[in-house]
Amino acid sequence: MKVGLFGGTFDPPHVAHLAAAERVRDELALDEVWFVVAGQPPHKMRDAVSPAHHRLRMVELAVADHPAFRVCDIELRRPGPSYTVDTVRALRRQHPDAEFYFIVGADMAADLPNWRAIDELKTLVRFVALGRPGYARPVLPGIPLHWVDMPLLALSATELRRWIRAGRSVRYLVPEAVRQYMEAHEVYGKRKR
Ligand code: ATP
Repeated sequence: MKVGLFGGTFDPPHVAHLAAAERVRDELALDEVWFVVAGQPPHKMRDAVSPAHHRLRMVELAVADHPAFRVCDIELRRPGPSYTVDTVRALRRQHPDAEFYFIVGADMAADLPNWRAIDELKTLVRFVALGRPGYARPVLPGIPLHWVDMPLLALSATELRRWIRAGRSVRYLVPEAVRQYMEAHEVYGKRKR
């Protein structure tokens, strides 16, 4: 089984995440894509991340209508910072027959050389990268990257949070079920209008 792993804080999940996952699934003929919801991302230690149960629920809602998309909560069940290498080691033990493809946007790709145990990690997964507006395609000596083309979508969770806080509508930028959930649970506070 070929499995794509798509790690993120998903705070909130947005349509660029879904389009990226689908693009990679289609291009590489993956059987499934697992959205790995980050517990405490090492690179975002200083930023406030929304509570894990909200992010997990939003990702569940976001992927619910895709038969090949799944949510993986393994990092939420582990205390401390979420290192991808720990996650992948555990997933390989649990699914010895799976072939894992780790999906990253161009911004994340540039940072791969700094990831914990990258030399081991690159033997455990194949990295698949997607262009992202505002980020060049890095060339990483010693880390093979399979670039998949897709229409660039200039969307980030950070910007969406800003929009929501400013009282703007994010309809069509996040799946409708996610939009309704975040409003109902005031994940990003009350809408101003
Ligand atoms: P934030 O703005 O909070 O950092 P984000 O929008 O980058 O959030 P993450 O959950 O951090 O979302 O991202 C998960 C993965 O999706 C990362 O590999 C990231 O590079 C990728 N990604 C996010 N948005 C896009 C986009 N618009 N195009 C391509 N890849 C993206």
